[in-house]
Amino acid sequence: MQPLTRGKRITETELILPSLYLMSLNDGSIATSELIEKLRYIMKPTGEDLQILSGRADDKFSQKVRNLRAHSTFERFGYAEYKGDAKTGRVEITEEGKKHLKQNQDVLTYLLINDFTYPDLMANLKKIEANKDKKRIETFDENVIIREGLKRITEETVYERSKQLRDYAIGCFTVEGKIYCNCCAFNFADFYGEDIGNGFIETHHIRPIFQYENENIIKTIKNAVKNLMPVCSNCHRMIHKNWKKPLEIQKLIEGIKQNGFVSNKTYRLLSAD
Ligand SMILES: [Zn+2]
Ligand SMILES: [Zn+2]
Repeated sequence: MQPLTRGKRITETELILPSLYLMSLNDGSIATSELIEKLRYIMKPTGEDLQILSGRADDKFSQKVRNLRAHSTFERFGYAEYKGDAKTGRVEITEEGKKHLKQNQDVLTYLLINDFTYPDLMANLKKIEANKDKKRIETFDENVIIREGLKRITEETVYERSKQLRDYAIGCFTVEGKIYCNCCAFNFADFYGEDIGNGFIETHHIRPIFQYENENIIKTIKNAVKNLMPVCSNCHRMIHKNWKKPLEIQKLIEGIKQNGFVSNKTYRLLSAD
């Protein structure tokens, strides 16, 4: 096995986990054309990766997926093997690949279901593959407040971690005793009354947040808060409305302001640094 950081082929490593995931969904193997199509579907490439390569009917993203075979990326790690020729062949997950996938299943799910931007997704998948000590990566759940009941039962530890982060964040985001939606300035207590609305807010993960095993949770949480945003349920839904591309927060705020739903006075309270 060769070290991961060798040469410029590093850009393919972020495709490893999602590819293994797709193989496993697909009875353990997948054809390259199907792999390209499905990876594109779940990773939502943008920008430069959509550039068509000169003289070919392929874009950079497809090329990157094809390069997995040409560069023996899976074989280098022993995670999967190509069978058959380049046109009709398939790539099949190995036992080692299954192990690698299982080890990182939580973090992959977290990255894929939270609509992070493509660059964030890529950067974090790369980080996971560069985790040479194979430390367990712990994830957080941004929806902990919504699915509280079920979460508690099914994923106790993720719930506890996420709740710690949430509680700390609420402390940080409280302005004059209140937490406002950082997009529209909605306050649940003001609207529904103290009894019902007090302390309620959702937390949006602007960028992925995770913690490596044995890392200090308090330190992680303190850092993670920078990537959190308190939002009301409506704004949160709007941000995640289009699963193919999370809405740019600034765009959402501009829209709200344009329509006059946030007074400048309220808005200043929120945007004061
Ligand atoms: Zn809002
Ligand atoms: Zn969110």
